[in-house]
Amino acid sequence: MEAAAERAARYARAAHKLAVAKTVAVVGHLRPDADAIGSVTALTLGLEKIGKTVTPLVGQPVPFSRNLLSIPGADRVSPATDIPGEHDLIVAVDCGSVDRTGTLTGAVLAAAEDEKLLVIDHHVSNTGFGTVNLIDTRESTTSMIRELLLMIGVPLDRDIAHCLYAGLMTDTGSFRWGTASMHTLAAELMSYGLDPRRIAADLVDSTSVADLQMVGHVLANTRMVEAGGFNAAVLIADQATIAGHSESAVESLADYVRELNGSNLGVVLKEQGPGWWAVSLRSSRCDVSQVAIRLGGGGHVAAAGYTSRGTAEEALAELATVLSTTDVSL
Ligand code: AMP
Ligand code: MN
Ligand code: MN
Repeated sequence: MEAAAERAARYARAAHKLAVAKTVAVVGHLRPDADAIGSVTALTLGLEKIGKTVTPLVGQPVPFSRNLLSIPGADRVSPATDIPGEHDLIVAVDCGSVDRTGTLTGAVLAAAEDEKLLVIDHHVSNTGFGTVNLIDTRESTTSMIRELLLMIGVPLDRDIAHCLYAGLMTDTGSFRWGTASMHTLAAELMSYGLDPRRIAADLVDSTSVADLQMVGHVLANTRMVEAGGFNAAVLIADQATIAGHSESAVESLADYVRELNGSNLGVVLKEQGPGWWAVSLRSSRCDVSQVAIRLGGGGHVAAAGYTSRGTAEEALAELATVLSTTDVSL
């Protein structure tokens, strides 16, 4: 285990970068989840509280999932194809690799070239693409940001607490897993007057009849597939099925195959465009990050993803091949 002093020094280096910058752009990953938006907004609101000028961004040309707008400050996070203006520091949050910054990849690479890129992230697969890289795979990105805010003297308030809680909630599967310190942090954040039932409703529970019917349709076609020595529970969400449905409903599909009886791996194929699939892997029995990395993606031990091209059957065949030749032991 990493020595406490070494950990503190790594956090101090990142905190120093934040402390000395006057103008900051904060970039979350494309197709953001609540951990990405919660991280961007918590850091933005926190830095503004100590007088910095902050530009919050996500690298995609289209608006992100509407339910995330319930997070304070999320309405200010601009979907962008470039970083507008000059900044002392660019901070990439919750991005495991530079391509996760999407349409901002060029601008983020330029910031690294200028030695003004800070990476704050928790993915096992993180490539360390920043000038300073703070990567902590035991934390949520939001819990890392909470620690950094403390170090640079930003007091929390209700809005910042809400942003942090939103990220923590997603990263702990609505508090079904995660470390003791994440749960302790949730309790601390709640003391700022948060309404956890409302936040869960906004971010997780709220759905529509049409979305529920779409989920039902996909679930009705659940398959159990032998893939590279694994028993995979597979959900296929093709374009015709998911077109026009909310991103949050489509993303919720992964929750159903995390622990299906008789399976040791969950796979969701989500068709983003004709023959272009975002693939989600879930498992509590093997390290799926290693599989996703080999397929050009990344993620965590228990939850990872990548993209694949071809038919759904071709995507499954590709996965089976990689599964049979990857060390996924925990
Ligand atoms: P998802 O299956 O999309 O919910 O993602 C699970 C985890 O894997 C998240 O932490 C993502 O950041 C990561 N992930 C998903 N897709 C990719 C990808 N194409 N490249 C890198 N990381 C990914
Ligand atoms: Mn995320
Ligand atoms: Mn994350």
